[in-house]
Amino acid sequence: MSAKILVIEDEPAIQALISVNLKRAGHEVVAALDAESARRHVDEALPDLILLDWMLPGTSGLDFARRLRGEARTRDVPIIMLTARGEEADKVQGLTVGADDYVTKPFSPKELLARIQAVLRRQRPHVAEDALEVGGLRLDPVTHRVTAGSCVVNLGPTEFRLLHFLMAHAERVHSRVQLLDQVWGDHVFVEERTVDVHIRRLRAALEATGHDGLVQTVRGSGYRLSAQPEQ
Ligand code: CA
Repeated sequence: MSAKILVIEDEPAIQALISVNLKRAGHEVVAALDAESARRHVDEALPDLILLDWMLPGTSGLDFARRLRGEARTRDVPIIMLTARGEEADKVQGLTVGADDYVTKPFSPKELLARIQAVLRRQRPHVAEDALEVGGLRLDPVTHRVTAGSCVVNLGPTEFRLLHFLMAHAERVHSRVQLLDQVWGDHVFVEERTVDVHIRRLRAALEATGHDGLVQTVRGSGYRLSAQPEQ
């Protein structure tokens, strides 16, 4: 499982230790020493997960988590808080502002990686390498194959990522901006129209096996993948 992880930690030695271990496990790491520079990274591209130190210079980790949870674009990005505090009251406070998990320093890299995998599997199924099945379509992220029964569906790389995201979050409606953030990793420099172009290509590729109807347009909102026929 390979995810883009933003690590916000002001102690260089810990930052380096975490980054090395995450990269070794196949993740892409973006490092920030404080909440302000982390903010700039988040504005550019949404990470799949944020590791957030509690005690930071300037804006505290707790305040930063609260802000991320207060904005529609960043509300669902998984957050794991890192802290030297092991007290129950702090843990409760961290989870109250919306952290998905909590790791107390000192932690072993192995433990941290296990927590990250658990949160990703739960919150970011399109990053996990589990095969998905919806409405007769099967997508295997490991072999990069999409099949419908014994037929192979041929997709370009962008259509594959788009289908992977839609299948991992089936039945939910996604706006074009959300799809740009999640599938393209860029909501600033890519035009919303691009999403429509690739949705069209995806539908065309799914037509051969009669699965194009799974990709549905929700007027005024965006797109969804659904095993239920369109109303
Ligand atoms: Ca710190």
